Amino acid sequence: MMKLNNGVEMPALGFGVFQTPPEQTIDAVASALETGYRHIDTAAAYGNEHEVGEAIHGSGLARDEIFVETKVWITDYGYDETLHAFDKSAGKLGVEQIDLLILHQALPGEFDLTIAAYKALEKLYADDRVRAIGVSNFMPRHLGRLLSETEIVPAVNQVEVHPYFRQSELLAYDDQHGIRNQAWSPIGGITFYRDGSNGSTLEDPVIGDIAEAHDKTAAQVMLRWHLQQGRQAIPKSVTPSRIAENFDIFDFELSTEQLAVIDALDTGVRGGPEPDAITRENFGRQIPEA
Ligand code: NDP
Repeated sequence: MMKLNNGVEMPALGFGVFQTPPEQTIDAVASALETGYRHIDTAAAYGNEHEVGEAIHGSGLARDEIFVETKVWITDYGYDETLHAFDKSAGKLGVEQIDLLILHQALPGEFDLTIAAYKALEKLYADDRVRAIGVSNFMPRHLGRLLSETEIVPAVNQVEVHPYFRQSELLAYDDQHGIRNQAWSPIGGITFYRDGSNGSTLEDPVIGDIAEAHDKTAAQVMLRWHLQQGRQAIPKSVTPSRIAENFDIFDFELSTEQLAVIDALDTGVRGGPEPDAITRENFGRQIPEA
């Protein structure tokens, strides 16, 4: 478990469902919960909150045993709009309270709208509708402005981090401000599920050697690297054997030297969209009502 800056505890290892089609989501989340994951990361924009909720309710676990995180999409930014976005997400998930609600992206060209959206998160937090609030894909320049114009320091910043893109300055900024880093594409999914020039982190020979030394897989080594550096990780899979593999990481430890060797693989090349290029014109899409 990892403690957030407001004292709330959440699992260090969660389960992601980006690009998991709705018709596969119930099985994937059910498999994760059976395996032992107790943190699920979804988003309004993923179109599968309803199925995540169904899997949670069908699991037989008590609501308070599962930490549910979701994200507000940019088309729902603005104070009233974001308050309503909570109703949409909570309605689809079938929950009264969301454990962690975050803004999916900054809107650098419309930052006032981003601030208004965050103020709605603060209101939801004050009203106990959410247990923690945070952001995603915020760079230090966005965080600086957010911190100066709002009251509550985000509990989490969910950003792209894997061995080929480490964002060390951003991670340090988060640490300095008590913002917990949460790694998306933690095993480098974005390096191999997109057609691109980047090679796959899963086939990296350096990671492969470390994995062999521990009798573990490359994915397991990368997840361990995040956790040992104090970051949360939310690997995604629809494959039960991989879902289990990614959770089987609590019986080995990387050395300080091995952590440093993985750090050194950083290419500085981002796989996901450039945060400053996010606009409602380019990335906008309507989020349906619950
Ligand atoms: P991941 O690094 O989790 O990689 C997922 C890919 O790796 C899938 O193609 C999956 O295939 C495959 N895979 C999973 N486990 C293994 C394994 N052990 N061995 C080999 N292949 C494996 O990338 P994601 O981009 O999905 O990121 C994880 C989560 O982060 C997302 O689901 C989402 O919750 C969040 N995210 C957030 C973003 C944001 O902007 N805030 C952006 C992107 C992701 P398969 O499913 O076929 O098994």
